[in-house]
Amino acid sequence: MVRLPVPNSAPRTIPNADALDEGLLADVANGAARLTPEQALDLYNRAPLHTLGRFADMRCRSLHGDNLRTYIIDRNINYTNICTVRCTFCAFRRDATDHDAYTLDVETILEKIEQLVSIGGTQILMQGGMNPALPLEWYENLLNTISDRFPTVHVHAFSPPEFIEFIDFFDPPGDTLEDKLRYVMTRLKNAGLKSIPGGGGEIFANPVRRKIGLGKADAEAWLTCMYVAHSLGMFTSATMMFGHIEGIADRVHHMDLVRRWQDRALSTADESDDPWGHYKAFISWPFQPDNTPLGRAKEWGTGEGDALDAPFPGDAVANLSGDGDPRAHKEFGRRIRLAGASAYLRTQALSRLMLDNIYSIGSSWVTMGPHIGQLGLYYGANDMGSVMMEENVVSAAGTTYCLDEAFLCHLIRGSGFTPAQRDSYYDILDVHTAPDSPDLRVTDWSEHRIKKLHIESKPSATETPVQLTASASD
Ligand code: SF4
Repeated sequence: MVRLPVPNSAPRTIPNADALDEGLLADVANGAARLTPEQALDLYNRAPLHTLGRFADMRCRSLHGDNLRTYIIDRNINYTNICTVRCTFCAFRRDATDHDAYTLDVETILEKIEQLVSIGGTQILMQGGMNPALPLEWYENLLNTISDRFPTVHVHAFSPPEFIEFIDFFDPPGDTLEDKLRYVMTRLKNAGLKSIPGGGGEIFANPVRRKIGLGKADAEAWLTCMYVAHSLGMFTSATMMFGHIEGIADRVHHMDLVRRWQDRALSTADESDDPWGHYKAFISWPFQPDNTPLGRAKEWGTGEGDALDAPFPGDAVANLSGDGDPRAHKEFGRRIRLAGASAYLRTQALSRLMLDNIYSIGSSWVTMGPHIGQLGLYYGANDMGSVMMEENVVSAAGTTYCLDEAFLCHLIRGSGFTPAQRDSYYDILDVHTAPDSPDLRVTDWSEHRIKKLHIESKPSATETPVQLTASASD
């Protein structure tokens, strides 16, 4: 089995180089040099969009070649929407007393997995709210049952904020957060948990996090959780949700932290078939404002008195250390700057260049639409996320897109690449060159229109949707 290349050491930095120097960017693209956070910020602010895209694409091709671009068939299972936390960007959570609060029972979850397996799916992405009614034994029983019934299905589940809440709810033995995390994670791993999704990353900088993620894991707790997962041999992903109150420096700081902790993880990895786990993928996406408290904040530049040349409050507060003073701008946290296509592509391209030690960059077409997602394959992304059967969290915060597998392959092929189905480890399962490939079988595309998901079409706890759709995966 082919495993990911594990770099022995970080590439050199050239701190005094001009970020726009094409020689520097070519070195970054071929893995010979590493951007400093200062250069990355400068690059974001000054580089023409297509220059960023060109070098991000070069970097992507140096890692993934010119031929294949991938996707996975998995299913999002949001086992409960009951949550004691109140993130201001979330439209998914419910109080336990709300009429549409739910917790899926084990049989319902198994039915969903059965449907996934029947269409060739290989992974479930299982995440939920912070529900204090569920004991550790509930999770162990669920995982054990899934492992017994579906031994080949990869369980990618429970993001760091869930683990931090598990510590709070279960009060496990241990003197430190790390000890407690290791105790809970080991029990869930022994029950069948295979890897940890990067949900809840949002923006790591504390001033932003305190405003948008009330009560959630802070950056150190989030990163410690992933560190413990890596030390137990599990791989994880990392995510970033941007385009709200944060400054651009916050995005760079976020990527820098992921890169540094990945360096730490890789420094103890070996090249055997069973390497120490680490971050395998980075996926970033813009904040979806509909139905969220944060979405009611006024967009910067649209209010009376917003000077066109005045700095966005998030930029006035942000710095590359993630510890800006929130008092630096009185509108900080009250105004948002939504990310459009250009900001999305720019951010994704920068992530490919900055995160030189992360193998996969995912395109988040589910929020940006399929054609921007397709363009993302030329802005550093090698992976189009997942074909899956439902999506509840992002779609609760507004319109998201869904496609079937044929359309997803069609988009990849239309970009000039060959679509390939991958597994959770990014190993290739199927290269779609044959005439019976999902997209090449289609003669009438009118049946394969781009569909939109929205909260009104969100399946309830008792519904079992069978339509094959596609969405982003973390
Ligand atoms: S994002 Fe997660 S933790 Fe935050 S309110 Fe929503 S369900 Fe709860």
